[in-house]
Amino acid sequence: MPHPPSSPGAFVALPHPPRPTVEALRAHVRAGARNSPGIYRMYGPAGEVLYVGKSVRVRTRLLSYFRADRGEKAAEIVGHAHRIDWEHLPSEFAALLREMELIKRWRPPFNVQHKADAAYCFIKLTREAAPRLLVVEQASADRARYYGPFTGRARLRDALRQLGDLLQLRDCGAALPMRFGDQGELFGVDRAPLCYRGELKTCLAPCSGLCTQGEYAERALLARRFLEGDAERPLAILRQRMDAASGRLQFEYAAELRDRAERLLAVQEELVALRGTIETLSFAYHVPGHCGDDRLYLVRRGSIRAELPYPTTRTEREFAAARVRDIYGAPEPRLSSVRPHEIAQILLVAQWFRRNPTELERTHPPEAFAGVERSA
Ligand code: SF4
Repeated sequence: MPHPPSSPGAFVALPHPPRPTVEALRAHVRAGARNSPGIYRMYGPAGEVLYVGKSVRVRTRLLSYFRADRGEKAAEIVGHAHRIDWEHLPSEFAALLREMELIKRWRPPFNVQHKADAAYCFIKLTREAAPRLLVVEQASADRARYYGPFTGRARLRDALRQLGDLLQLRDCGAALPMRFGDQGELFGVDRAPLCYRGELKTCLAPCSGLCTQGEYAERALLARRFLEGDAERPLAILRQRMDAASGRLQFEYAAELRDRAERLLAVQEELVALRGTIETLSFAYHVPGHCGDDRLYLVRRGSIRAELPYPTTRTEREFAAARVRDIYGAPEPRLSSVRPHEIAQILLVAQWFRRNPTELERTHPPEAFAGVERSA
């Protein structure tokens, strides 16, 4: 029977090709995959990526999917797969980086959340007319400031609530309109705060014209300074309140304020320690390749700024020396908050060396590769 004529521009949906049998997928893996490091991808009917995984032995890992019992995640993934492919890479470290890159790019449905991200949370200082302090699971590229990563959401929320109360920052929703006291159109507006925090004076109440935008911005700046290492003002406020409570013989309340101060300081010390850890992740990292294709990773502040063949010839050494000068030659501004696009990689690099401490023996000061004549 002839096909019906299609009008110009009409969309004709093509049926998806039939799903290959599980046996055909297994034969494809058996025929092509090697037992060396790499990543693999499973695709759905329309070519969409369903899952990305990595392994030091790609063939063995892929074949294990076909032995999974019903109800296991591996059996479910392979049960949905219409196509499987893989990339062999020089090392487990290279596979880990590639897996992270692909998961970030495609967010495949069976990779629920990247394991390295899942346990962490961050402090976010929003970029709004009246900024707020929030605990968030992920940092996004929205021009807010992010601090962390931390573990322990409840503890962090508690510390931020105290910091917010001390500095009188708001914690209401983003959609609530702000009416600063220096806005002209406030004439005749009822200046009653919109929630109990304004009544209790734990918020400056920018919702109701009870502070100017400048007054609020000053408090938000103090919060930022606190998170970046300057605890003086919030702690001074706490000390004044402690003294006042003791003066009124409210010793229990004074002790509670002292505990609050300690919890706030603990968060700040953690941030200082984190910044220190990130600074220590600056080196040249030599990773032997599975088939002799060794790589050199130039890492600064936990992020991989370059990946090169490990230099063995004069030309390669010249190239490596130039990259080292580019990357480490100029000082970088003091590390305050973390850049959202670098966080996943910093976490991955930190976790890699924590789990494989002997790998630190393969790290070198970058200057070791800055001289061309140096033997590799
Ligand atoms: S007083 Fe107003 S600005 Fe402050 S938290 Fe409550 S609703 Fe938000």
